[in-house]
Amino acid sequence: MTTSHPAGNTGIADVPPPWPVPSTASPAALRSLAGVEWDVVVIGSGNAALVAALTACQTVERVLVLERAPQHMRGGNTRHTRNIRCAHDTGDVFTPGTYSVDELFSDLQGVGRGPVNPALALFAVGESQTIPGWMADHGVRWQQPLAGTLNLNRTNRFFLGGGTALVNHYARTAELAGIRIAYEAAASDFRLSGDRRVTRVVLESADGPVDIPTRAVVVASGGFEANNGWLKRYWGDAADNYLVRGTPYNDGSMLARLLDLGAGVAGDPRGFHAIAVDARAPRFDGGIATRLDSVPYSIVVNRDGLRFSDEGRDIWPKRYASWGGLIAEQDGQIAYSVYDAQAAPLFMPSMYPAYTGASVAEVARLAGLDPDRVVRTVAEFNAHIDPTGRFDPGRLDGCGTRGLDPPKSNWALPIQGPPFHILPLRTGITFTFMGLAVNELAQVLDTDGRPFTNVYAAGEVMSGNILSSGYLAGFGLTIGSVFGRIAGREAAQHSAH
Ligand SMILES: Cc1cc2nc3c(=O)[nH]c(=O)nc-3n(C[C@H](O)[C@H](O)[C@H](O)COP(=O)(O)OP(=O)(O)OC[C@H]3O[C@@H](n4cnc5c(N)ncnc54)[C@H](O)[C@@H]3O)c2cc1C
Repeated sequence: MTTSHPAGNTGIADVPPPWPVPSTASPAALRSLAGVEWDVVVIGSGNAALVAALTACQTVERVLVLERAPQHMRGGNTRHTRNIRCAHDTGDVFTPGTYSVDELFSDLQGVGRGPVNPALALFAVGESQTIPGWMADHGVRWQQPLAGTLNLNRTNRFFLGGGTALVNHYARTAELAGIRIAYEAAASDFRLSGDRRVTRVVLESADGPVDIPTRAVVVASGGFEANNGWLKRYWGDAADNYLVRGTPYNDGSMLARLLDLGAGVAGDPRGFHAIAVDARAPRFDGGIATRLDSVPYSIVVNRDGLRFSDEGRDIWPKRYASWGGLIAEQDGQIAYSVYDAQAAPLFMPSMYPAYTGASVAEVARLAGLDPDRVVRTVAEFNAHIDPTGRFDPGRLDGCGTRGLDPPKSNWALPIQGPPFHILPLRTGITFTFMGLAVNELAQVLDTDGRPFTNVYAAGEVMSGNILSSGYLAGFGLTIGSVFGRIAGREAAQHSAH
């Protein structure tokens, strides 16, 4: 297992050796891309990639987007998104109230160990103010804030139609602007000249390699969360039990290739955003629908029927991203949320039905748990609830347990009214943080901190420059949008000169 790299510094990562990633488009289609020298080749078709491509085409003409997925799976994890976090001095109907740069930065400092590179993080926060206007100029439309468990209406802007609509808007705007998007075209390698300049992006066709000439490259190919073998380097066999909430295509192939070519690494290899998802969710791409929000209104036990963490420590938006890691630490990487009839209407319904029984013992048996042990845990919990507490789901109500270890600090309702329910939980990884070290111009840096001549990075593939161990909902798109614009602009300017 590898240990963390020094925060904010470039370093050498223990990564798997690069592997060839075959393209599934026909060799003829891939060869047709090789006939021109492109001004900018962008790798990926998620938010960061499309923002970079749209920005680049304001300066140069020949912009190519390479996406390894088929067209219906384009947009990577961005397909699943719903909102973006941006600072704003004046509110409007979509984000009422104000959310200053200072407040957003302070929120970012408050999650996990705080930003890896505070200067870069502050820069991203400041730039975030200009992102909604840019998005609207490129076809995105907004919707009124959603009410729900995460309460993000003041800080996060929701786009109409979610991430699929976002990708569709950007892709259509891109194609109208003359940007070429090639699907089933997986970047596999780079050819470099002596001055660490990429001259060609290599695609592996069924007939052998196809070299795509280019003057500059933007890498926006996501994290490595879909690569179980890579996760196992840092998490061991536990990774076999993780579910991946997003695209199966983000295997980190381009990240591994660039690190092998001497790029510096930024961020903690074990850093990821992971939440509690339904244990019955698919291995990949379950998306938002499999998230479970029952934790604050339930008790959570491991497979031995024992509680292991304070389910009510903080409001859910600040705490939900801790549960992926907490479950990862349990035997078998599984946990169970236990609640009763009065708690059931307090959170969004689950996609898969909860196990339900007339008694705690019955529902525990249905969930495959030791009924006696779960009955004892529930009884112990009920007996320690402060009887003077006033339950209020809308705030930190202090309605907690007394003398129980671990405590439940808020929303401690007794579990006593049938029917009783259990939802099985697993670690659902949203995305990994460790990525390519970059500077403020989105240039990829080598292990000595010197920029590659014409290689830029944006999005999840460089989020480790900012995110350490925690995450702020909606900031993934902020990072991708801010650095996508810079990467597109810088790549195009390099190419034009
Ligand atoms: C369920 C879910 C919900 C989320 N909700 C939000 C939200 O509401 N707000 C928010 O800010 N963030 C959210 N996130 C996180 C968010 O998805 C990301 O931070 C952001 O969209 C990532 O954008 P990206 O462009 O960096 O990567 P992606 O959107 O993942 O795009 C990477 C692309 O690169 C392609 N690719 C990979 N390797 C290659 C290769 N070798 N060659 C060619 N192409 C390649 C992939 O196929 C993919 O299309 C969510 C994530 C998930 C999974």
